[in-house]
Formats: sequence, C-alpha cells, structure tokens
Amino acid sequence: MTKRIVVVGGGLAGLSAACYALASGFRVTIVEHNLALGGVCTAWTRGAYTIDGCIQWLVGGAFTRIYEELGIVPRVGLRVLDHFATYRRPTHDVEIAITRDLAALGRALAAIAPADADEVARMLDAATTLGELDPGLDRPPELTGTREALHRLWELRSAAPALIRFRKPLGTWSREHLQSPELRRLFARLAPEAAPALVLLTMLGWLSRGALSRPEGGTAPFRDALIDQFQRLGGEARVHATVDEILVENGRAYGVRLGDGTMLDADVVISTASAPETVTRLLGGRFGAEALRDRLARWSLFEPIVLASYGVESPLGQVPSTLILDGLRPFPLCGRAIEHLHVRVYNDEPRVAPAGHTVVQVTVPSSYEWWATRGTRYGAEKDVVAAHLLEQLVDRVPGVGGKVRVTDLATPLTWWNMARSWRGAFEGWMPNAEALFGHVEKKLPGLGAFYMAGQWVEPGGGVPTALLSGRHVVQLLCADEKRPFALPTR
Ligand SMILES: Cc1cc2nc3c(=O)[nH]c(=O)nc-3n(C[C@H](O)[C@H](O)[C@H](O)COP(=O)(O)OP(=O)(O)OC[C@H]3O[C@@H](n4cnc5c(N)ncnc54)[C@H](O)[C@@H]3O)c2cc1C
Repeated sequence: MTKRIVVVGGGLAGLSAACYALASGFRVTIVEHNLALGGVCTAWTRGAYTIDGCIQWLVGGAFTRIYEELGIVPRVGLRVLDHFATYRRPTHDVEIAITRDLAALGRALAAIAPADADEVARMLDAATTLGELDPGLDRPPELTGTREALHRLWELRSAAPALIRFRKPLGTWSREHLQSPELRRLFARLAPEAAPALVLLTMLGWLSRGALSRPEGGTAPFRDALIDQFQRLGGEARVHATVDEILVENGRAYGVRLGDGTMLDADVVISTASAPETVTRLLGGRFGAEALRDRLARWSLFEPIVLASYGVESPLGQVPSTLILDGLRPFPLCGRAIEHLHVRVYNDEPRVAPAGHTVVQVTVPSSYEWWATRGTRYGAEKDVVAAHLLEQLVDRVPGVGGKVRVTDLATPLTWWNMARSWRGAFEGWMPNAEALFGHVEKKLPGLGAFYMAGQWVEPGGGVPTALLSGRHVVQLLCADEKRPFALPTR
C-alpha cells in the first residue's frame, strides 16, 4: 500500500519535501497554517503594485540543479545579478558600488582604507576561492559515509587557509584585522556581524562568478512554479489549517490533530514548522526538548525586521536597485536607534508595478517584543513607522517625494501571523559559527516515523537550503524505508 506522509507547513521546504516524496512514490498531504502555500517566500498585491516579500538574491551555482529538479527552472528565468548593492555614507563621503567586479571593489576599498589594502586583497582572494567551493549537495550528511567525508575534506584542502582565517565572526575578524572604522562599518552593513566572515566572502565569490541572480518577475513566479509542480505530481494541500499536535503512539508518529479537531492519519510526519513550535508545542516537549533548550540558550535567532513598501508613481530609473544608506542621524524607531536603511528599488523588475511606476522597499531591524506589546495601538504604530521611514527615504532618494500612491508595512508580527515565524525570526537560526558548523538532526531521539526539514534544521535559512533540506529529508526517509529515491523531473 502506498504510504501517506503529512507535511506540517507548506513553505519552500514543505513543498520541496512533498515533491521529492511524491516522485518517490508516497502520497502527500501538506497542512498549511496560512491562506496560501509558500511560507515566508511570498509576495502580495496592494492596489496596482506587487509587494515582493522575499527573494532579493538567489544563490545558483550548484543549487541550480535543485531548482531544475523541482521544475522551477527553466520555467522561471533567472537574471544574473551584476550589481549587489551601492553603499552610501554621505557624511564621510563614502560611496561604493559592490558589483561582480571584485578587482574594482578591492580598489575602491583600498582607496578609503589604504592601511588595510593587504587584508582587503587577502579577503577578495578568499572570496574567489570560497565562491568556487562545491557545497556537496548530493546527499544529506547523515547518509555520507566516512570515505566520502574524507574525500570531501581532501577536496577542501586548497580552501583551508581561507576557511581558517575567515572562520571567525565578521565583527571579531574586522576588529582584529582592519584598521579602518569605515571598512568595519561597511562590512557590518553587508552581513550579520555574528556570522563567520566567510559567509560574506562566499557571497562575494558567488556574486563575482555570476552565481547570484533574481528570478524574472520576482518571488511570486518562483513560488508559483513550485506550487504547480507539487500539484502536477498529485499532492494534496489543506490551507488555513493549523496543526496543534503531532500524534504519537509507541514512539512513532502516526498523524496530526488540527486546530478544529480534525485528525489526519499518516505513516510518516515531516515538520517544517519552527523548532520551538515542533518540539515544544506540537510534540509537547517529549522528544528533543533538551537539545532545543540548549540551542535556544547558545544560538541566536535571526533578527526580526520591519519591511516598509511604497508604490511610487515614478520609474526611479537612475537609482541603484539596492542601496544601503548609512550614517543617518540616529532616529528612534520601535524602541531602538536606527542609523542605516537597506533600500530595494524594483526599477529592474517591471512586473511589480504599472508602466512608469515602481516599488521601493525599506528594511530595518526591529523587535518582536516591541510590536507584540502595542495592544490596540498596533495599527496606528504601523502608520507612524511607515510615515517615519518614508520621511527618511524622501530626504535621500530623489523622485519619491509626493509620488507615493500605496503604503504597506510588514512587522515581526506579520511573519508570525502569516507563517508562524517564531518570535519574528523569519529565517530561523542566525548562522553564527557554532550554528553554521554544527549539525541539526532531522530526527528526534526516541521518535520514529518523524522528520524535520526547513530553515530550522539549516541554520541561516535561505531559499536554496530550504529546498535542499526538503530533498535531503526524503533521501533519509527513502533510505530508512529501503526504497529508491526519485527526482520530480529528470
Ligand atoms: C523578507 C525576507 C527576505 C528574504 N530574502 C531572501 C533572499 O533574498 N534569498 C534567500 O535565499 N532567502 C531569502 N529569505 C529566506 C527564505 O525565504 C526562507 O529561508 C525560506 O523560504 C524558508 O522556507 P521554510 O519552508 O523552511 O520555512 P517557512 O517559509 O517559514 O515555512 C514554514 C511553513 O510552516 C507553516 N506552519 C508553521 N507551523 C505550522 C502549524 N502548526 N500548522 C500548519 N502550518 C504551520 C507556516 O505557516 C509556514 O508556511 C527571505 C525571507 C524573508 C522573510
């Protein structure tokens, strides 16, 4: 008899796991809390504008194979990213365009920090090396034998000096190795300071070799191609249905109970919900709670954000499509002082707005607690914050003033309501050194017929790793069930 899997959560990881499982001969039902599939990888409309809530850059290279297996590519075209961002700090006369040309970046960095020229050269060399590393996607670590693991270590030997030198958190490395406060500040705006410096360098390496892209049409067509593939393979989904319990008997998961009391039987349950949701709420803390508590104490969560989007009656053709505005006079927002804005101008994506219009988005770090304690003023505070951020934008991006036709504000609570992102951590665990080099088990001790996938088992999250973890979890399942693993498209 065909075995039935219930997947908790229809984000990218849940959809990916479902597609690989369907191809491998399982029946699959996804249960999704939100009104639609896609999880945090989503876009929505406001009037004539599309608010793109996710993909700013997509890692390709070796990951492209996963997008092809899932039928997303070539159906959705990928536009190689030539320009990553322009960093501006007008008070200090700094403006740097970060593009695929790393040599030009090196010259620009050395010009503002001559004393750091040698370290900048070492850094950009390392970026090239790291960007070329094969991430070894074929099999989950759990199925990688000692021989294969040793072979991989051997392959990594040429990158060892870069891996060792840049393994430290970005903040620590830049304090220890860079003299210029300007450079230290710039790097801190490009990647989380708690993440190893090699995260930023790998990203620069991918950029330079053309392995970063944006899907044509933005996040929506990318998400929709995956949903179509899931439906084409015969998957079933229940949306706007929240799992309240994973049912367990004799140490094996055998189904789920939904919020309305409905029970769904399953031979196997895969959860892509957050780790705290899965371990403490859905399983009542009976399996793996100690390891989770330990991780929560030692690792940090992705910092929540506010995403303010403005539909603008202007094409803003002359503005860089990604702009980091730094050195602002600190202004209070949601209980903290903001000194920089991350601005995305969709002038490179005509499908998000009518002709002659575009969408401008501002991302700033925020606080879950602050938003969760606004009470009945929550809506009014959203208006205040959106207006405040717009004032900052109008002062710095010519062409926006007086042209805003639509405003949309997403807060940490938006991600909680929409995708149950625990405490607004929309990308799960922060990829600090311990989390990144550690390994999160996809199974829980003492619990059979149960697996976890998604960004809470892949620290740092991201589209490619969410999709990959769906593949890996089905490879594990097939190995446990002693049946062949099959690809959704060949
Ligand atoms: C603003 C933003 C920008 C981003 N930019 C990029 C980018 O540029 N590049 C990149 O690679 N990545 C980016 N990401 C990250 C990437 O989108 C995510 O890491 C990835 O989509 C996570 O997929 P997931 O399936 O693991 O998790 P999720 O998308 O969180 O999916 C989990 C799903 O489970 C559901 N769920 C949870 N609990 C239950 C329950 N009890 N019952 C039923 N359903 C439940 C949730 O509703 C959700 O749909 C961005 C994310 C955001 C929010």
